[in-house]
Amino acid sequence: MSKVNPKFAIELSKYGSNDFHACFNCGNCTATCSLSNAEDSFPRELIRYATLGLENELKASLKPWECYYCGDCSIQCPRQAEPGELMMSLRRWLTSKYDWTGLSGVFYRSLSVTILAFVLIFAAVLILADSFAWNLQNMMHVGHLFEMTVIFMVLLVIFIPNLLRMWYFTILKPNVKAHPKIYFIALSDLFVHMFTQKRMKDCETKDNFRWLEHFILVIAYLSLLFTTVFLNWFNTESLFVVILGYVESFFIFIITIDFVSSRINKNKALNKFSQLSDWLFVIWLMIMGLTAFFVRLFIDTGIIENNKWVYIIHFTILAQWALIIVPFGKWTHFLYRSFAMYFSKIKSLAIAQ
Ligand code: SF4
Ligand code: SF4
Repeated sequence: MSKVNPKFAIELSKYGSNDFHACFNCGNCTATCSLSNAEDSFPRELIRYATLGLENELKASLKPWECYYCGDCSIQCPRQAEPGELMMSLRRWLTSKYDWTGLSGVFYRSLSVTILAFVLIFAAVLILADSFAWNLQNMMHVGHLFEMTVIFMVLLVIFIPNLLRMWYFTILKPNVKAHPKIYFIALSDLFVHMFTQKRMKDCETKDNFRWLEHFILVIAYLSLLFTTVFLNWFNTESLFVVILGYVESFFIFIITIDFVSSRINKNKALNKFSQLSDWLFVIWLMIMGLTAFFVRLFIDTGIIENNKWVYIIHFTILAQWALIIVPFGKWTHFLYRSFAMYFSKIKSLAIAQ
C-alpha cells in the first residue's frame, strides 16, 4: 500500500521547490518534455506523486535523474508551477534519501551547519599547518596523502553504500527481476553517460554549447584529479605533466567562470532558482582550479616559499570540496545521474526480457 506523507510539500520546500501545488494537471509539461512517452507521463506523474506526498513512489523513480533541466516544461506551464525546478528539488531530496549518513540532507537544509563545517575544516587546515611549523614541503606531502586517502575513503564509506541504497530503492524494492547478465550488458550505458552526459543532447531544445561545456569540465576535472593525485603534479619534474595540469586547471577555471556568471545573470532556466549547494559547487570548483594553477605557477617561478598562503587556501578549498561537496553536495548528482541511467537500462532490459 502507498504511504502518504501529508507534510511532503513542506519537506521538499527545504530542498528548493515550493510552487508545484499550483499545478492543475493540464499536461502541457508532459507534451513538451522529450522524456515522456506513451507509458510515462513525465514530469506530470511525478508532480502528482509530490502533490499527494507519495514518498515511496518518488524514491523508486529514476526519472528525476534523467531530466537535465532544459526548462521547456517550466516555460510551457500556464500555472508557473515550475516543474523543471521540482525535478531539481527532487534530485536534491533523493540525494538525502540515498545517503546513509543523513549529512546530505543536513547540509541541504541548514545554512548554519554548512558554514560551521566549512569553518571547522579551515581551522583544521590552519592547525595542521601550524603543527608542521608552516613547512611547505611537509604540508604538500600531507596534502597529497590526504587526497589519496579521501578518494578511497569516500568511495568505500559513502559512495558504495549509498549506491547500494539507490539500487535497493529503485530496483530491489520495486521487485525488478533482472538476470545478472543484464547488469553486465547495461554497464556500457553507465560509462557512456558518466563521461559524455549524452542524455543532455536528447532535450527538445538543443543547447550544444552547454553540453560541450559540461563535457569538457568533466574531462578536465577527472584528468586534473588524476594528474594531481597519481602523477603528483605539484612535485613532478615532467614537463608534460606540468603543462597537462596547467591546461586542465585553466579549462576548469574558464568554464566555471561562465557557470557562475550564468547563475548570476539567470540567463537559463536551470539558473533561475540557484540554491546554496549550486553556488558552492561552481564557486569551489572555480577557486580550486584557480588556486591549483597558481600553486604550480608559484613553484615554477620559485616564489612559492614566500607565498605559502596560496597553498594554504588551495588545501582548504580542496579539503572542503573533498569532505563536504563531493560526498554530500552537488557533486553526487554526477554519480547518481550516471547510475540512474544504468539502472534505467537494467529496468528496461528486464521488462523486455
Ligand atoms: S504544465 Fe504546469 S499546470 Fe500543466 S501539468 Fe505541467 S506543471 Fe501542471
Ligand atoms: S526540465 Fe526539460 S527534461 Fe526536465 S522535466 Fe522539464 S522538459 Fe523534461
